[in-house]
Amino acid sequence: MILIYGVSLLPVGILRIFRSAKPLEQQEKEHPELEPGGHYRPPNCTARHRVAIIIPYRNRAEQLPPFFNHMHAFLQRQQIEYSIFIVEQTGNDPFNRGFLMNVGAIEALKRYKIDCFVFHDVDLLPEDDRNLYTCPDQPRHLSTLVDSLGYKLLSVDMFGGVTSLTTEQFKIVNGFSNKFWGWGGEDDDMGNRVKFHGFLITRYPLNIGRYTMLTHKKAVPGPDRFKNLYSGSKRFATDGINSAKYKVLDIKIKPLYTWIAVQLYNS
Ligand code: UDP
Ligand code: MN
Repeated sequence: MILIYGVSLLPVGILRIFRSAKPLEQQEKEHPELEPGGHYRPPNCTARHRVAIIIPYRNRAEQLPPFFNHMHAFLQRQQIEYSIFIVEQTGNDPFNRGFLMNVGAIEALKRYKIDCFVFHDVDLLPEDDRNLYTCPDQPRHLSTLVDSLGYKLLSVDMFGGVTSLTTEQFKIVNGFSNKFWGWGGEDDDMGNRVKFHGFLITRYPLNIGRYTMLTHKKAVPGPDRFKNLYSGSKRFATDGINSAKYKVLDIKIKPLYTWIAVQLYNS
């Protein structure tokens, strides 16, 4: 094992999880290997995967230090090329996770060559290095077991938390629905899009797809989530990346990530 300052550069298997970490300004100084915007290329090889990690975000500042503390080291041990986008919803509308994922993907494609998207909750930390942030032949549900859910897979149809799709697959399914305002439903709708288009939801074995969730209050469920979910298939072709109406208010190329502030429009 290669150890530099106590940090392994090779995958180690089961990882220690730190729920708190140094402030971001301090972490920034410890990552000279990163290109601006939280972009990384392995120094000694050409990566086989160019990955964009898309994170929907609002008002979770306390979760950013533990997230970045864990993720940059984790991702670099996988020798992938990656960039991290934090997509922040401005305004007071209910949170819309799927819409933010669409914005992140569209904006990421304007900036980098990307083969693979990983859609990632900010509060989920992978517990095992063998959980590769890549896109295999079929879409992958990475966060199979989460501590806050008792490390149980509640249904084989689950497709929330952390998922990966190739750029091509993401375009074929027309991204996420933009219509799920408030908590819930958009992940199941995405699972339905995946299956509707003939793809399979795949997973790592249960000892690998394990995550710790950082603590937060339970969100208020969106009142229309079931209605939108049941009628979802009627809109797969018309509600998604091809209909996302939004305005980018600000973009900051920060050392650890690219930050996009966006106003979402109800379409
Ligand atoms: N999120 C956020 N601010 C919010 C609500 C959600 O940043 O006010 C993002 C964040 O990335 C979070 C994800 O959306 O991890 C999913 O929301 P939440 O954690 O509430 O869902 P749950 O853990 O209940 O599945
Ligand atoms: Mn959560």
